[in-house]
Amino acid sequence: MSAEALPLARNLERFPELHPPLDAQAALVEANRCLYCYDAPCAAACPTHIDVPRFIKKIASGNLRGSALTILDANILGLSCSRVCPVDVLCEGSCVLHRYNQKPIEIGLLQRHAMDAFYAKSPFLAAGPRPEAPARVACIGGGPASLACAAELRRHGYAVTVFDDRPLPGGLNTYGVAEYKLRPSDSLREVELVRSLGVEFRQAEVGAAVSLDSLDQNFDFIFVGVGLGAMERLGIPGEDRPEVVDALRFIAHYKTSHETHVGRIVVVIGGGNTAIDAANAARRLGAEEVHVFYRRTEKEMPAFPFEYEHAKVEGVQFHWLAQPVEILDRAVKFSATRLAAPDASGRRKAEALPGSEFAFVCDMVIPAVGQGRLMKLLAKSRGIGLDNGLIAVDRPTGRTAHAKYYAGGDCVNGGREVVDAVADGKRAALAMVRRLEISRA
Ligand code: SF4
Repeated sequence: MSAEALPLARNLERFPELHPPLDAQAALVEANRCLYCYDAPCAAACPTHIDVPRFIKKIASGNLRGSALTILDANILGLSCSRVCPVDVLCEGSCVLHRYNQKPIEIGLLQRHAMDAFYAKSPFLAAGPRPEAPARVACIGGGPASLACAAELRRHGYAVTVFDDRPLPGGLNTYGVAEYKLRPSDSLREVELVRSLGVEFRQAEVGAAVSLDSLDQNFDFIFVGVGLGAMERLGIPGEDRPEVVDALRFIAHYKTSHETHVGRIVVVIGGGNTAIDAANAARRLGAEEVHVFYRRTEKEMPAFPFEYEHAKVEGVQFHWLAQPVEILDRAVKFSATRLAAPDASGRRKAEALPGSEFAFVCDMVIPAVGQGRLMKLLAKSRGIGLDNGLIAVDRPTGRTAHAKYYAGGDCVNGGREVVDAVADGKRAALAMVRRLEISRA
């Protein structure tokens, strides 16, 4: 599938956008409601610290390109973040207008207005200075964390190569975010913007076509932004049956292929945002019934509340306190669970209840239970510490236990938002820049 062919016409119909954009007049009215707060809490709530009052003020004065540049200065993925950010718990959730019982400023839609205007005209940014120092950085993975890291490094004049094994870069933004939130074509426009800064992209699998040893030899630093990779296996009998399709592959397939098979009765296993995306997609692709099973309760479910509410509107049904024990022919066998006392991390474990097994009839099973594989190679060969299967880093810098390796995004935080990955990538890039500058001084 080529980039030009995306999004698929069928998906434009089946997955209409959740929130239509503001027109020019509505954007002006909304921008003029903003109080342009000093020490704006909306900007503090943004993980990438976009100067929200500044970009809104530029919209109010008709300077849409200037507004977009303010956004891109802090967040190179300002377009995708304007569509997928959970604004009600971030910037809009912090807007001071809440205190006056007024509707918060629609920051997400205003950001989108500025970014759409930027990309509608041939988008360009001033390229970073030519690499003057011999320092080179490799980014493994082509998703939001790596793109943000690469863009920041280029803006400081360092040479960056992004390695990604998929045909199209962009990671989850291209392949994994539900179509009604973010079209792959928009993700690819952001990739092109990063490329225009002078970042090199190579389609190659690190650990296979390109060895870690060759990266170590040819690059000064290596940033790991590999996401969660393929979903973790459930580790139960029957999961190799053909009717079992992992959630990330299912979502990537319908976004880039003309025909995606979906069952009549679909069971999705997991309680995160990816589980919800897969469940909604299954409904839109024609499944008569979609059932999400989660081993804890509604209260512990990691998906955002608005995603959960949206899925219920789509007709997705939820089942709590149940974990799969076997995939059968046209059914999943579950065991009921109960919640144990919280562990040291404050998380309550789900314990199977003996003798509580039951079978649930279905003809397709979509596991969506996170965690990746490539990290194991890094842990084994580079001594990079893992914490619950995720890469352990020094949070303020993103530095791993190996001084040459940094990491960020889902492979560190376990699967948060695009904006968190962007913040991680940027933070790691700045930490590398500091070290490079100190070593050159
Ligand atoms: Fe505008 Fe609300 Fe941010 Fe204040 S908190 S600058 S009113 S968006």
